[in-house]
Amino acid sequence: MFGRAPKKSDSTKYYETLGVSKNATQDELKKAYRKAAIKNHPDKGGDPEKFKEIAQAYEVLNDPEKRDIYDQYGEDALKEGGFGGGGGGHNPFDIFESFFGGGGGGFGGGSSRGRRQKQGEDVVHTLKVSLEDLYNGTEKKLSLSRNALCSKCSGKGSKSGASNRCAGCQGSGLKISTRQIGPGMIQQMQHVCPECRGSGEVINEKDKCQQCKGNKVTKEKKVLEVHVEKGMQHGQKIVFEGQADEAPDTVTGDIVMVLQQKEHPKFKRKFDDLYVEHSLSLTEALCGFQFAITHLDGRQLLIKSNPGEIIKPGQHKAINDEGMPQYQRPFMKGRLYILFNVEFPEPGVLSPEQCHKLETILPPKPNSNRLTDMEIDDCEETTLHDVNIEEEMRRKQQSQHEAYDDGEEEAGGPRVQCAQQ
Ligand SMILES: [Zn+2]
Ligand SMILES: [Zn+2]
Repeated sequence: MFGRAPKKSDSTKYYETLGVSKNATQDELKKAYRKAAIKNHPDKGGDPEKFKEIAQAYEVLNDPEKRDIYDQYGEDALKEGGFGGGGGGHNPFDIFESFFGGGGGGFGGGSSRGRRQKQGEDVVHTLKVSLEDLYNGTEKKLSLSRNALCSKCSGKGSKSGASNRCAGCQGSGLKISTRQIGPGMIQQMQHVCPECRGSGEVINEKDKCQQCKGNKVTKEKKVLEVHVEKGMQHGQKIVFEGQADEAPDTVTGDIVMVLQQKEHPKFKRKFDDLYVEHSLSLTEALCGFQFAITHLDGRQLLIKSNPGEIIKPGQHKAINDEGMPQYQRPFMKGRLYILFNVEFPEPGVLSPEQCHKLETILPPKPNSNRLTDMEIDDCEETTLHDVNIEEEMRRKQQSQHEAYDDGEEEAGGPRVQCAQQ
């Protein structure tokens, strides 16, 4: 049957052409084709041969029946089966146009082929999420309003599909007007053509599509399901390719969701680690403690000191694997750091007798600090005042700054003179 020795059936080439895996979904194929086709379109200076290959690969893989044959028997089988795969197939430009829905008929015989596709703008939204959302992962539904190509006229704006070049601007969408602003001086101004509002074409009033009134697009409500995955970061982007506003002859831009994490009352996040502060009483710091922290998934973590352990003010402790899950490796987790504050008793809480008792328990006061009555007689008396040191430092820095500013103004003049001498 085979004229030549049957080649080993190669059924990976098409996947490689589109840069997708063999088990790519329909959606992934579409995305891959969209990207590759725009990039390699001959109108944009791409290689026509490559453009053709991409169209061919997409045409086969996008058709479940053809894909099945290709997967099992390779490219040659499609030729044998009269599917028009391999060499024949459809015009790659037709595939491109049917995919993007731009232009198409109406112009009688492919004159739209040369039309360039504009790149539509991306639309960026911020999406507020809690730290709990980023820890557990969640799904958010977002309702958006966007322009969609009119479903009735497929974005042509007219019932018949016809449109005429605007006479006012000869299809350029721009009008140039001149006016004399002085003897021999002419000002030239360019503005959007009022007759076609910059589109360069007019649609006969009677022929206008009733649904979009000739605007080619209509407003559409769209609900996006945003999958916030475990471990995602503040500022991370989730992209919905080709979901932004549609417009005729335009490659639809992306909707980009930028995650914005709301401040958490208890936990702070740094990369994959979590930080939490906890205050201990002096007694707990000295004699041991036990308490529970409610984690971001609602679990209660029991935190307790080791026997004989003493916690100093400002000391950190860490619990492994209780930090944030890593993005796309959620079973790997960072650490949970606990910063301990120690609350000392208020002044006057300890009576002189209680202090005495404490002295018998706590390590004795150092000998070197003990003074004899004679030595005390030789000293001058002083008074200790309460201070708020941060406040004082701030004030001092400010007054120093002002003095420095003043000084520079006065020093400015003479210094320049010095340099000239
Ligand atoms: Zn015009
Ligand atoms: Zn319409």
